[in-house]
Amino acid sequence: MARAYNFSAGPATLPEPVLRQAQAEMLDWNGVGASIVELSHRGAEFMDVAAQAEADLRRLLSVPDDYAVLFLAGGATTQQALLALNFAAPGQVADYVVTGHWGRTAIRQVEPYVRVHVAADGGPGGFRDIPPRDTWSLSADAAYVHITANETIHGVEFRDTPEVGAAPLFADFSSSIASEPVDVSRYGLIYAGAQKNLGPVGISVVIVRRELLQREGQPRADIFTYASHAARDSMLNTPPTWNWYLLGLTVKWMLDEGGVEEFARRNAAKAGLVYGAIDASGGFYRNEVAPAVRSRMNIPFFLSDETLTARFVAESKAAGLLALKGHKAVGGLRASLYNAMPVAGAQALVDFMHDFQQRHG
Ligand code: PLP
Repeated sequence: MARAYNFSAGPATLPEPVLRQAQAEMLDWNGVGASIVELSHRGAEFMDVAAQAEADLRRLLSVPDDYAVLFLAGGATTQQALLALNFAAPGQVADYVVTGHWGRTAIRQVEPYVRVHVAADGGPGGFRDIPPRDTWSLSADAAYVHITANETIHGVEFRDTPEVGAAPLFADFSSSIASEPVDVSRYGLIYAGAQKNLGPVGISVVIVRRELLQREGQPRADIFTYASHAARDSMLNTPPTWNWYLLGLTVKWMLDEGGVEEFARRNAAKAGLVYGAIDASGGFYRNEVAPAVRSRMNIPFFLSDETLTARFVAESKAAGLLALKGHKAVGGLRASLYNAMPVAGAQALVDFMHDFQQRHG
C-alpha cells in the first residue's frame, strides 16, 4: 500500500527509509539475534547507537563542544518545568516572551517555582505577529529569557534569534529543530520533543551550555537535575532506547539528505507552495499570520466558508492527505510540513486545495 502524505503536527510523519530500516532490523539488529530495543542500554550495541546518535546530532546542528546534549525520556512540557528547577533560584524572576499556546504552557510549568515576568505577549493581537523586539520589557536580573522558536498551533515563527542581553536565551525548538541552520552559541539552552522533526514521541533533546549546569537552581530530586543526566550520559534512567535508536536513524537520514541547509531550502519551497496557494485563492483560503513571521513548519489556515471545513478534512483524507484538521484551540485547518514531508507532499496538498476550490468556490 502506498503511504499517504501525513500533515500531522505531531507525532508526525517519519522518513520512509527510517521506517524501512527499523522494520528490517526489528527482529535481528546487526546479526545480534535480538532487536536493539531488547538489548541492555549498558551493552556495547546500544552504547554505540547512543553515541552515534549524539555525534550525528552534534554534526547536524553544529553544536559547539562547550554544550552538553541530553536525550531524556518524556516530552517538551517536562523540560519546561525543569528549566526553572535547574536554572532559577527560588523566587528569582524569569522572562517569558509569549507568541502562542506553547509559550503560555511554558509559563504554567514554572509558575510554582519562579516569578514569571511576561516580557512581551502576542496574545492581545491574537498571536498573529511577534511583538517587535524594541517593545520587550526584559528584566535586569532574569535567570533566563524564554522564547518559543516556532509556535506549532498558532503558526508563528522567529525568523531571527533575538538579542536579549546578559540573561541566557532558552528556546523551545520542539517544532522547528533542524529545519534550518541555527547558531546554537546564541542560546543558553535549546530543547525539543522529538516527535516532529527528530523522530518518535517519547524522547526529548536538551542542548545546554555546560557552564549553566553549575547553577544551583532549586531544591529538587536528582532525576530532575540536568547536570546529573549529563554526568551519566543521559542514562540516569533506563533510557528510551527504541526512541533514541529511531532518533539516531532520523538524524542520520537528515545528514545523508544534505543537512540543515538542504532542509531549509526544501522547507522554504514547501511553505512557499502552500502560502502561495492560500494567498492566490482570492480569499477562499486565509492565513492570518503576519507574513514576516509565518511558520514554515505549521500553517494554520481557514476557509472563508467555515461550514466547508469538515468536508475539506474528509475529502483530503480520502485523497491520501492525512491530518489537516486544525488544532481545537484555533479551529480551521493546519498543514504541518516537517522535514520528512517531501516537496511532492506540499504540491499534492496545493493541487487538492485548487481542486477543492474549483468544486466549492
Ligand atoms: N512545545 C511545542 C512548540 C510543541 O509543539 C509541543 C507539542 O506539540 C510541546 C511543547 C509539548 O510537547 P510534549 O507533548 O512533548 O510535552
